[in-house]
Amino acid sequence: KMVLAQLGGSISRALAQMSNATVIDEKVLGECLNEISRALLQSDVQFKMVRDMQTNIRKIVNLETLAAGTNKRRIIQQAVFTELCNMLDPGKPAFTPKKGKPSVVMFVGLQGSGKTTTCTKYAYYHQRKGFKPSLVCADTFRAGAFDQLKQNATKAKIPFYGSYMESDPVKIAVEGLERFRKDNSDLIIIDTSGRHKQEAALFEEMRQVAEATKPDLVIFVMDGSIGQAAFDQAQAFKQSASVGAVIITKLDGHAKGGGALSAVAATKSPVIFIGTGEHIDEFEIFDVKPFVSRLLG
Ligand code: GDP
Repeated sequence: KMVLAQLGGSISRALAQMSNATVIDEKVLGECLNEISRALLQSDVQFKMVRDMQTNIRKIVNLETLAAGTNKRRIIQQAVFTELCNMLDPGKPAFTPKKGKPSVVMFVGLQGSGKTTTCTKYAYYHQRKGFKPSLVCADTFRAGAFDQLKQNATKAKIPFYGSYMESDPVKIAVEGLERFRKDNSDLIIIDTSGRHKQEAALFEEMRQVAEATKPDLVIFVMDGSIGQAAFDQAQAFKQSASVGAVIITKLDGHAKGGGALSAVAATKSPVIFIGTGEHIDEFEIFDVKPFVSRLLG
């Protein structure tokens, strides 16, 4: 899989070059950090985050005060690993649904981000774990949204609710909730409208649906290939909905992946899954340490 391979390769090369130097001095460390920063910037990580990472590593690796004989290479490598992990870890875990205990999870994101696809993937993932998920289509903005959700849900044998006639997303969301609460669904997933861009109407609608359904978790779905726009987009959603987790989609394509780091920073929420294809099971749990380990090869 292509997931972040380029970024990982560049960082690994920078570390290897540093390791090959005969003596690790300020110059070698500086060059290494510059290489890593360049790789992060090229992968669309926000400039401020890259600068902070440099500062943090400098704080950990103080060459002058390191005792003679300490393995500087190892300390630098570990500091880079720790920093990458920190960038992806907001320090508080996301809400996780429990089997048999009713939860409501609301999905938000721009149109085309992969929101509807991801709702089904998320439902299917939990169904296979023994949950009784259900899907509510509260996207009344995009023509065809309900049909798409219906098709996906039918294929995966997941109960769904929506309407071709009703234009009020809040009404549909509330009706769907009532229906599936009666059916003892323990994971009610609400798909909301997207828009092509961040606009006031979208955020107002999100607020109303959230107020009416009181979700246990709001998941922000972001297209991993949107580049430097990631930070601002994620922040705009965070400001309007109480985003508690992020799912990055399309990491199988040309995504450079830095968006994941920016989305975490902007929402102060963890990435919980990534989308790695259009198919329902092309969906992976996101764990920071294994991910960074894999990234650095
Ligand atoms: P929405 O408008 O946000 O609901 O987006 P959709 O769920 O309709 O997805 C938009 C397009 O992206 C569709 O063609 C999906 O098949 C595709 N898509 C969604 N997630 C992924 C992914 O992880 N990888 C790839 N390659 N395509 C995806």
